[in-house]
Amino acid sequence: MIPSSELLPTKILPQCKYGLACYRTNPDHFELYSHPPDYKRREKSCEIGNVGIPVINSGSSSQMKSAFSPASERKLKLVKKLDEQKKSELHFVKLIENKIQSLIGQFELKAEEVAKLRQDLDKMVMYNQKLETALKVEIDQREQRELERKRILTISRQTPSYWGPNVFEEPYREIEISAQSAEYDIIEQLMNSTISKHGHQYGTVNGRDPTEFLINRIIQIQNNELWHLYCFKKDMIIRQNNNRLADCGSSIYLETDPVLTPLLDTKTNEYWLFHGCSRNNLYHLLHSGYDPRVSNLNGLFGGGFYLAENSSKSNKYIPCPGCGQNCVGGSMGCSCADQEDLEFSMVLYRAALGDVHIALKYDRKKYSHDPTKQLIRRPPKKANGKDLYDSVMGECMKYGGDRLQHREFILYDSGQAYPEYVIYFRRSATNLRRPINIKNLKKKCQEFLS
Ligand SMILES: [Zn+2]
Ligand SMILES: [Zn+2]
Ligand SMILES: [Zn+2]
Repeated sequence: MIPSSELLPTKILPQCKYGLACYRTNPDHFELYSHPPDYKRREKSCEIGNVGIPVINSGSSSQMKSAFSPASERKLKLVKKLDEQKKSELHFVKLIENKIQSLIGQFELKAEEVAKLRQDLDKMVMYNQKLETALKVEIDQREQRELERKRILTISRQTPSYWGPNVFEEPYREIEISAQSAEYDIIEQLMNSTISKHGHQYGTVNGRDPTEFLINRIIQIQNNELWHLYCFKKDMIIRQNNNRLADCGSSIYLETDPVLTPLLDTKTNEYWLFHGCSRNNLYHLLHSGYDPRVSNLNGLFGGGFYLAENSSKSNKYIPCPGCGQNCVGGSMGCSCADQEDLEFSMVLYRAALGDVHIALKYDRKKYSHDPTKQLIRRPPKKANGKDLYDSVMGECMKYGGDRLQHREFILYDSGQAYPEYVIYFRRSATNLRRPINIKNLKKKCQEFLS
């Protein structure tokens, strides 16, 4: 028989609601509340992990403490949450302890009966320890995932040197390019050297295809998030092609019939390509990037993001700011006044085409709708039947295509092209610009970009 006075607190105090889990260190608290006999008071500590249940095996206790080292705010929150969870799990341990106390008080229990009850309680505590270990593993795994995420966000931040200093001081910035700079000169020439004939239907000025684009201003876009998304996508393309993109079939093909705008990064088949759209779409493209989920569904190559090497092709997709027409998808031509004074905007994208699928023979089933009438939303598979191409180029008739007057380029993944410049311009059909020597222009670009 155990005298009940040895088991019960000497003073009759209300029980602390945390019982064994109590982590208070203030001595006043212990004057006011009673705690179970097995309870060990915590030492004052700022260690965030030191709030767990009392542990019977001191060896495992120290292991557990070391796992909870001081960490980031995010981790603090997580630990707090887990502690709340633990506290609720501890509720039943506390209940059992209370039960033991009341049983001892009610019946005069034998020593072995008390020991049995204590054993059961220990089992409960062990169970909770196991739970705690499992939660610790979960925290470790979450940390691993967080580290991986950070690694992805910090890969090759490097921006082109001609972007100038203090890049990404702000998340988004528009910088007007000086009209006297080499950059301006090159972009203006690219715009005008890639004008072609389109049958006087869309993007016309006074009913005629433009023969010249008069540049009002050129804006360079510095969007931190989009740039890093683009760099990440480029790294993926390099890795998925085993860093051997220069040797792949499409790269060799594009050497013979090159894309007009110059090759930038040969490791990813990077090109400057144009995109034309409404002012409203432009805002979204520059701030949040293109979204393949809301892509053009009427394209020849399924739901994707469409780019062109001819500025005049992209020009056909820009609605008239006056009447909203005179663009593909709208009605032909417009009757607005002073059409030569209207300002339009076009984006010059830096696009990582990767391994390009060259579509010479157009096949609707293959490129637009598969036999089950599903809209195509990704590039075709490569010959090995497993890997996908990174992009699609619809070849023009000049180079052996059977359908298109001008090449079109289609991307199906977000982030694969970066909106580097917005060109604000007017259309003119009065003069025919003197043809630009493409070879010279390419050399100029290579020098400028290197
Ligand atoms: Zn307490
Ligand atoms: Zn668009
Ligand atoms: Zn109009």
